[in-house]
Amino acid sequence: MSETAKSPLERPRTQPEGSHHIDGAYVADAGGRPLPVIYPADGSTIATLEHAGPDLVEQALAAASRAQPAWAAMTGTERGRILRRAAEIIRERNDELSRLETMDTGKPYQETVVADATSGADALEYFGGLAASITGEHVQLGDDFVYSVRQPLGVCVGIGAWNYPMQIACWKAAPALACGNTMVFKPSETTPLSALKLAEILTEAGLPDGVFNVVQGDGAVGSALVGDPRVAKVSLTGSVPTGRKVYAAAAEGIRHVTMELGGKSPMLIFDDADLDDAVGGAILGNFYSSGQICSNGTRVFVQKGILPAFLDRLAERLGHAVIGDPLDPTTSFGPLVSQAQLDQVLGFVQAGRDEGARLVTGGERLDREGFYMSPAVFADVTDEMTIAREEIFGPVLSVLSFETEEEAIARANATPYGLAAGVFTRDLRRGHRVIGKLDAGSCFINAYNLTPVEAPFGGVKLSGVGRENSRAAIEHYTQLKSVYVGMGPVEAPY
Ligand code: NAD
Repeated sequence: MSETAKSPLERPRTQPEGSHHIDGAYVADAGGRPLPVIYPADGSTIATLEHAGPDLVEQALAAASRAQPAWAAMTGTERGRILRRAAEIIRERNDELSRLETMDTGKPYQETVVADATSGADALEYFGGLAASITGEHVQLGDDFVYSVRQPLGVCVGIGAWNYPMQIACWKAAPALACGNTMVFKPSETTPLSALKLAEILTEAGLPDGVFNVVQGDGAVGSALVGDPRVAKVSLTGSVPTGRKVYAAAAEGIRHVTMELGGKSPMLIFDDADLDDAVGGAILGNFYSSGQICSNGTRVFVQKGILPAFLDRLAERLGHAVIGDPLDPTTSFGPLVSQAQLDQVLGFVQAGRDEGARLVTGGERLDREGFYMSPAVFADVTDEMTIAREEIFGPVLSVLSFETEEEAIARANATPYGLAAGVFTRDLRRGHRVIGKLDAGSCFINAYNLTPVEAPFGGVKLSGVGRENSRAAIEHYTQLKSVYVGMGPVEAPY
């Protein structure tokens, strides 16, 4: 691993005009509890926002309720045009938005410039394109007939995690708005900045006031939003413990939910796999965004025959990771998002050592300011070890070895999670056979962590309910009204 060159990009302005964005404008709340925003690369405070108090939550929900009927009454073509215009503005401002995302999350600019705002723009473009073709159906029943109308749900609440702030905001807002809903979005309190930019850009693109609102704050603010009787749907991206609470609170009002939760996904690498593709997949599926990705394939099951070559090649390629200032375009591995996350991940590394796994490389706190550690690879990991069972959400890859296909499938499925799974093999039949038997929502064959907007994304088991992206998301932001039309005399028994 090497340290970077010293040519960081210019820092963007990080203090927003106001902490919240409600009814088409920035809103400050000088009385709110302070919410400092920390740059993970050096621990400095780059902005100070406020947690929303009850008045702000009320303002946002009232604005979203007021705006919803008129927004739903617009044609899909009109709604879609605004979303697509916002996608264009995001692309034009991608460089600035990417630098902001880098400062908010600590992820290297090299990543944010291709994966964050741009994937958000993809979602706005895709759902903007679909908005005009959201329809019900017609069923002829003799002379009578039934038709169904696909209607919006109403006011939706979106709650985000901190790893992909802009992408998460767009993945929720784009389908919700395309379907005629309005939204109050609460970003993670750790990374509150880019959702405000999305609100600003949507307003610039012509979105009517109140259709998309952002309020800041921690779980208490999220909880106030989820419990409000005006809310028809809640979409959460977060951990399983938070998912349980939010799902239960939503159940109180029989609200619709989408739950995008955590994972402990398996990656199965067979002897016949292309070695470099498999190593590349393991790197993408464990160390991109410093390992802070829900769908990461953190349990890497490697067949015995290819194991030594795999470990050698992985350690060698990790040696080329460029660790450093995330605003330096040559940096390919940045800090973790916060001190708390770093402490948690280092705790897992210690647990791996204590329980007898072999640390092949990395896992050290780096001697520099900011929340840096080196990417860790453990070998000789067994199924019952803590690092093989619990979601770490950091740059820690566990290698487990296996002999037969049946054994690998059974062990891969022995987890309460089911977000993602990957298979590396040159055998076409085996690739499809194995992926067919893995309990996961988002699967990959000879690839990993590619999540284009065209593909449904989401988990099974504890990893969640519902799907984001693709046409499937339309189902989760609409409900059907059916209308029976009688064309003949009404026959009654008396
Ligand atoms: P978290 O669960 O701590 O917080 C998620 C969000 O929920 C935050 O905005 C938080 O303020 C809010 N929240 C917390 N308590 C709440 C409550 N009682 N009511 C309403 N809102 C509440 O998660 P995190 O640490 O921000 O993110 C990491 C987790 O997110 C990991 O488990 C990761 O796997 C998961 N994640 C999942 C996906 C996915 O698409 N499946 C994507 C990214 C992250």
